[in-house]
Amino acid sequence: MDDFIQALSDDSIYFIKGDKNARYPNSNSLLIGDHLIDTGVSGKVLRKVKKQFEINHVILSHWHEDHLHGNYLLPNARYYSHIKDKHIIEDVNKMIPYYMVDGMSIGEDLKNLFTYLKIKDTLIDKTIEEGDVFKISEDIHLQVLFTPGHTAGHCAFYEPRSKIGFFGDIDLSKLPYYGNIDANLVEFENSIDRMLKMEFDIVVTGHKGPIMGRQTIKEELEKFRNILSQRDERILARVNERTSTKIEAFKEKNLIYKKYFYEEFEIIAELIMIEKHMDKFLSQGLIEEKDDGFVLS
Ligand SMILES: [Zn+2]
Ligand SMILES: [Zn+2]
Repeated sequence: MDDFIQALSDDSIYFIKGDKNARYPNSNSLLIGDHLIDTGVSGKVLRKVKKQFEINHVILSHWHEDHLHGNYLLPNARYYSHIKDKHIIEDVNKMIPYYMVDGMSIGEDLKNLFTYLKIKDTLIDKTIEEGDVFKISEDIHLQVLFTPGHTAGHCAFYEPRSKIGFFGDIDLSKLPYYGNIDANLVEFENSIDRMLKMEFDIVVTGHKGPIMGRQTIKEELEKFRNILSQRDERILARVNERTSTKIEAFKEKNLIYKKYFYEEFEIIAELIMIEKHMDKFLSQGLIEEKDDGFVLS
């Protein structure tokens, strides 16, 4: 078998490693029976997987382009996503405004990338929600965990017999991401906390894994969670007691990205993420709005 396909249990659950180490614009997939979670492994990898396995069902963890650009290679499969992400998957032109780069040169670059990746609108045959179970076989049952935050309809998945989890973009990387307008930081943190309470023996995320062992998985989740707390501190340190700080004052200050690689995109994404922290601080009563900006409460 090719080295990007790794059996995770005897029960026909396979980790499919995304091309180029699953770095954006690629991502990892999990194959359970004839069900594939996400299709962003790259055209090259997906074509090889298709030759070895029958894929009749595609479950999309969320609407992000790096998780669904292989859909065009599986035109006869049945497609599933959460209802809150369905409308974007069915009309991919909505992606650009969700990143707030519409009409900008980076928006055009992104559109060109989508064309290059052959991203197409995908009709969702059935929506999935918390508690749904895909009965893959007598023994293998894939549970849907509604884990919003990264996107409004983001889902993770759990197979109880093998205790294998697919975390989507609760990705356990060094750069937790919530830079699209439908992201929500409080929900993202609640979703991470929920995963911390569950027991997984093997975890695959959109861009990492497989991660083996309960303790290691817990530690990785805690590390990921701590990155968010550190961002909280850095951002909150810039809000004063009396003088109002406007959101523009947080722009291009490397408060989330230590270095900007895709400068124009990351500066915007960073500001959206900072706004998500502000939403959270407001809901917690840590800050309040004053003169079109924020002050400490
Ligand atoms: Zn994502
Ligand atoms: Zn991703």
